[in-house]
Amino acid sequence: MNAVERLAELFLDRLGVNGPPDLFAIATKIGLRIKEVEADGFDGTLVRALDAPKGIIAINSRIREHTRKRFAIGHEIGHYLIPHHQHLENVCRPNTIERWHSGISQTEREANEFSAELLLPRKIVAPLFGLNDPSLERIRKVAAEFSTSLTATAYRFVELTDKPCCLVWSERNRTRWYVPSATFRIPLPVSELPSPHSMAAKLFAGQHAPDQFVEIPQETWLNRWDAHRVRRVLEHSVALSSYEAVLSFLEFELEDEKHEDDERSELLEELDPNRYHSATRRKPT
Ligand SMILES: [Zn+2]
Repeated sequence: MNAVERLAELFLDRLGVNGPPDLFAIATKIGLRIKEVEADGFDGTLVRALDAPKGIIAINSRIREHTRKRFAIGHEIGHYLIPHHQHLENVCRPNTIERWHSGISQTEREANEFSAELLLPRKIVAPLFGLNDPSLERIRKVAAEFSTSLTATAYRFVELTDKPCCLVWSERNRTRWYVPSATFRIPLPVSELPSPHSMAAKLFAGQHAPDQFVEIPQETWLNRWDAHRVRRVLEHSVALSSYEAVLSFLEFELEDEKHEDDERSELLEELDPNRYHSATRRKPT
């Protein structure tokens, strides 16, 4: 857990939150008012009072999803409470809120992490997720209970689980970003994804993809040279039509890395220069 998530957790503890948090009540308690405004360039913004610990969170009324509005409010509360965000100009664009790609600034990322912990508190959601058994179905149920988007909730799952899995966001048939779980360290070839053989590509082509995990060839999501490191790949992709996007939830069954290490040491033994020299040295000159 990083410092920002720890801050959000302490904040929730202090408020005594033990279920899906009521953002309006929380905002009021810390001197923030939430207003919806019609806007073009931003999803959310925070206006601080100059002379007192209070302010206004303005949320773009054009955001269609209730869940995204909640995430944006959590994001702005993050800016308000994270100590080193105090002097930022917080005008937060749609392509940074609820996104986890490497192109966004550190402070936007931190506000997203804060919001994810605030809306989906680790202590409360971890037991609901079934962290040892990845399932988009269960993630959907948690999302419905906590009024969070499928993307933010699946991100939270991937962050908390020990299972090798990955969340991939593709837009207009191009993969934009992915978030791996801590136990999955194989890089995905983002610029070549989604592969035409993936369920994600099927959805972009307007075809049907099963609403469940489907086993697919390893190369579909991995570099060819990494495919042997994985025994099985399962993909569950869903279309998010309001973003022209597809969210892919991937679960991996890894080849035994220890086994790979053994193979490597056997190979090194074969290449042992001492053995090689001692064999050749005996040759008569
Ligand atoms: Zn922001």
